[in-house]
Amino acid sequence: MAFKALLATKAEKSVSASVVEMNEQDLMPGDVTVAVDYSTVNFKDALALTGRADVIRRFPLIPGIDLAGTVEASSYPGIAAGDRVVANGWGLSQTHHGGFAQKARLSGEWLVKLPQTFSTKDAMAIGTAGYTAMLSVLALENGGVTPERGDILVTGANGGVGSIAIVILSGLGYRVVASTGRPEEADYLRDLGAAEIIDRRVLSTPGAPIASEKWAGAIDSVGSHTLANVLAQTQYRGVVAACGLAQGMDLPGSVLPFILRNVTLAGIDSVNAPQVTRLQAWSRLARDLDLRKLGRTTQMVGLAEVPAVAGRILEGKIQGRTVVGVN
Ligand code: NDP
Repeated sequence: MAFKALLATKAEKSVSASVVEMNEQDLMPGDVTVAVDYSTVNFKDALALTGRADVIRRFPLIPGIDLAGTVEASSYPGIAAGDRVVANGWGLSQTHHGGFAQKARLSGEWLVKLPQTFSTKDAMAIGTAGYTAMLSVLALENGGVTPERGDILVTGANGGVGSIAIVILSGLGYRVVASTGRPEEADYLRDLGAAEIIDRRVLSTPGAPIASEKWAGAIDSVGSHTLANVLAQTQYRGVVAACGLAQGMDLPGSVLPFILRNVTLAGIDSVNAPQVTRLQAWSRLARDLDLRKLGRTTQMVGLAEVPAVAGRILEGKIQGRTVVGVN
């Protein structure tokens, strides 16, 4: 049967994508076929669609690192026709057709059954960004951070990871400080649960190797000087979850926060996280994420609008999460 997909192709060094009609025989091997309801546009999708980074390893390919939908056919144990499922990362949009399509065939190992609380649209409003925000919260908890220990800093606050991190942390009783380059969006950030807003410029330029202690913990989606400064300002035995590189992939800091303050730098990878970790993150999202607030972070687009959204993400002009209705 024919279905619509956004297909990325490469000519010379430039990547382009357009909506095409494909057939089931065009899909790649896999033991589960999913009727996709929604996908979403993450920072990594923007890198893939603009060719800014070599996310896509084989062309032509359907991009989209996330999808949510209903299983049509399955030979994978534990997953059956009619199950509502979500996939985040793995080979999607790298070597395997991804979520920007009405149909997907993929390995059952890549799928998580959706908690009852969530619709497939909610799942994509969360997407890799929200699931990564939860992985980051879990890293803070695993390092012993509790609301009584003090403020939590969230950088890249208007972004997908940042917005959802604020919602989760404030719901758990943390006092959240949001760092942003868009202070004019303070009302949005306060509405999500931020208690205080700071201008990201105070963090984004070179700073001292160690500075006065401000944060019990931090979730950083920005990297570079920002992450180095956040580490330098983290309290004794604090934890910083590093999940992103919106400012840059460098880390121009010193070891002083680690050897003087016992600070933990916790790495966060969502793409190849083991299934047990994914299940934990999705069940905690079901428990701890306020869906009404999630709705405030979300805008909807269709498949054809995805390339334009990708460009705006890299310009830092998109707020929160963009859900793609593929049908
Ligand atoms: P978004 O584009 O939604 O958000 C990024 C935010 O970072 C922007 O909204 C902006 O927030 C801030 N920002 C942008 N450019 C700069 C800059 N030059 N300097 C400082 N801050 C900047 O992206 P996502 O939330 O989807 O992803 C955030 C990061 O996390 C990305 O780097 C992404 O690759 C990474 N990521 C990593 C994952 C993993 O598995 N480790 C999974 C998911 C995402 P504001 O306007 O408020 O300043």
